[in-house]
Amino acid sequence: MAAEVLAAGGVQVDVFDAMPSAGRKFLMAGKGGLNITHAEPFDTFVARYGEAQAWLTPLLAEFGAPQIREWMHDLGIESFVGSSGRIFPKEMKAAPLLRAWLHRLRTAGVRFHMRHRWLGWGAAGESLFATADGERTVQADAVILALGGGSWARLGSDGAWVPVLQQRGVAVASLEASNCGFECVWSDFLKTRYAGQPLKPVIVSHADVHGVLTRVQGELMLTEYGLEGGAIYALSSTLRQSINAQGEAWIQLDLLPHHSINAVRDALQQGRGTRSLTEHLRRRLKLHSVQSALLHEVLPAEVLNDNPRLAAALKALPIRLCAMRPIDEAISTAGGVMRQALDARLMLNALPGVFCAGEMLDWDAPTGGYLLSACLASGRVAGQGALEWLAARSATAS
Ligand SMILES: Cc1cc2nc3c(=O)[nH]c(=O)nc-3n(C[C@H](O)[C@H](O)[C@H](O)COP(=O)(O)OP(=O)(O)OC[C@H]3O[C@@H](n4cnc5c(N)ncnc54)[C@H](O)[C@@H]3O)c2cc1C
Repeated sequence: MAAEVLAAGGVQVDVFDAMPSAGRKFLMAGKGGLNITHAEPFDTFVARYGEAQAWLTPLLAEFGAPQIREWMHDLGIESFVGSSGRIFPKEMKAAPLLRAWLHRLRTAGVRFHMRHRWLGWGAAGESLFATADGERTVQADAVILALGGGSWARLGSDGAWVPVLQQRGVAVASLEASNCGFECVWSDFLKTRYAGQPLKPVIVSHADVHGVLTRVQGELMLTEYGLEGGAIYALSSTLRQSINAQGEAWIQLDLLPHHSINAVRDALQQGRGTRSLTEHLRRRLKLHSVQSALLHEVLPAEVLNDNPRLAAALKALPIRLCAMRPIDEAISTAGGVMRQALDARLMLNALPGVFCAGEMLDWDAPTGGYLLSACLASGRVAGQGALEWLAARSATAS
């Protein structure tokens, strides 16, 4: 996106990437449907960025959901708003959009140099790249780093840039997994019989380290290692804080979000006869076997056999999360170049002429199109910043 802005401003742009082709993570994001942005009201939209909301708001105001849709439209890609407000290209996939975008960039004169691994700067401020033909140096008038976070390293973003920038005096918050699965201690029985099954419908609640409760309704799946899915991804940031502070995090699952606790209690009171508890719950409350198995996994017999306590557990089943999944599996990473290291146009205070954009910046957001939205918006602002910086420099020189 930065390249697009610069090329439109008449600047010769060279894009270097370590991978053999551009936009590999973008393509991966399109695998299950490219959720590129979100249609909710702007105030709600920007609130998704939590602590980073204040500094991302002006960026997203310049290039938010309406502008992203228009930009896609200009590339010949129509979009639609899904039932949850998420916005996708009509064809769902990322490939046609990426193809059209790269074609437009090349036509605008942008040159792509693949298999160029950026290593940092040489003594004269030149960029150093490792290539198949040995080291290459490039002297540029301005540099935009858009090196991604630290997950899915096989797609290119390995976070190797962190120490390079830190050595240059840039404040970088350590990269941590976000939008990722969480580990629980499951019995072999639960793992072998129920891994891969969705817990649906469900509301996940978590009280953060300050006691503030957040409730999220969404997808949740039981896996061999624990739990994953949109509902728990959305809580990654506060769950991470709890695990970092206490070594564990507790969530509560409302397995019957459409029933009041009184309705659950009434249903449980109806005669069970000789039926097993699992069968009773299935008949009276339409509880799936995976949900019953989870109840048996975490509740002691005295609670399972006490209807009022069982009703309470069905509405707020406590689950202990003992760890996050490894960073490389995460959909995104939190942490990165800190706000105070940058000016309003995303230029590094410590390195004039060097701008940063995308997931390598220190913000965090849930899935829902917020990740790509902030990447596109920050790329745009970094591109404009570089354009202004180059113009100011050439004005001073002449
Ligand atoms: C499975 C999956 C699904 C996702 N789905 C969605 C979704 O539906 N919606 C959404 O909003 N977001 C989604 N995301 C997140 C989104 O893809 C990322 O947030 C986004 O791609 C980040 O963009 P970026 O340009 O900052 O970094 P990246 O896309 O990671 O690009 C960074 C580039 O820098 C290159 N690079 C890194 N280091 C070097 C180096 N030293 N030298 C040279 N090149 C280097 C890499 O090769 C890479 O091409 C998903 C992510 C994953 C993994």
